[in-house]
Amino acid sequence: MYQFSFQPYQRTFKQPLQTSHGTWKIREGIILSLTDNFGKTSWGEIAPISWFGSETFTQALNYCRQLPTEITTETIYSIPDLLPACQFGFESAIGANKNQNYNSLTYSGLLPAGKAALQQWGKLWAQDYRTFKWKIGVYPIAEELEIFAEFTHSLPALAKLRLDANGGLTYDEAKLWLYLCDRTKIIEFIEQPLGVEQLEQILELSKLYKTAIALDESVATFNQLQACYQEGWRGIFVIKPSIIGFPSRLREFCQKYNIDAVFSSAFETEIGRKAALNLAVELANPNRAVGFGIDNFLSPDTARI
Ligand code: MG
Repeated sequence: MYQFSFQPYQRTFKQPLQTSHGTWKIREGIILSLTDNFGKTSWGEIAPISWFGSETFTQALNYCRQLPTEITTETIYSIPDLLPACQFGFESAIGANKNQNYNSLTYSGLLPAGKAALQQWGKLWAQDYRTFKWKIGVYPIAEELEIFAEFTHSLPALAKLRLDANGGLTYDEAKLWLYLCDRTKIIEFIEQPLGVEQLEQILELSKLYKTAIALDESVATFNQLQACYQEGWRGIFVIKPSIIGFPSRLREFCQKYNIDAVFSSAFETEIGRKAALNLAVELANPNRAVGFGIDNFLSPDTARI
């Protein structure tokens, strides 16, 4: 039996996050606490991203509001699949957020969309980032290709660049990007070039070009992850633990199929971040940086509880 309480929070992005889905200015989430029969309290975080495929913040809040103040493990494991961020928040709270050693992890630094990226990568490089992620499919393709050309000339040979289209390219645009990526040596992969409903075309593109492709929106929740694997995806999987559902189910899946997994932030507070990084230490491909270099977008503050 646990005493359950929760507290919604809001955090404003230092610079709005622009993706092909639109502009994101405020992160809303919920910090929950569970106190067991011995009086020990542990915390979890619900950090939904509804435009990415999880429940909305309001759905998560309504779920918390209708729960009694005393809940059991059974309550937690009966959270429906429609509430994946809640599944994650509650199960990671009972898994007690251990402080693991994150020294084995390297981080990918997130750059803003458009030209601003050219001004910001140097600052991240100085902080020892060697992998960068740049959002594409936000501005007209001609403009982004020009910026990309500048990138390929200015980034040091040691750097790796990930391009994230957030499903915003047409098939022809994706082919053009992949063609150009094949001609440089700095691209680690291109993320979610086409929409979630276009898995077949993404599979096709993955056979036509050398540049690796990663699925992200397509595998936002556990059911989607399973479905894509079953439909034959063996490329890279970007996993946002905070919205994927129960950590135990993810762990079991990753261990069984040994997928090439890149773990990525959902812009959580320290509580969700720790829970997500604990899984990354255990399950991520150790040769790939984790997508948690987001200090340019949110201050690394601790949530008030
Ligand atoms: Mg992505």
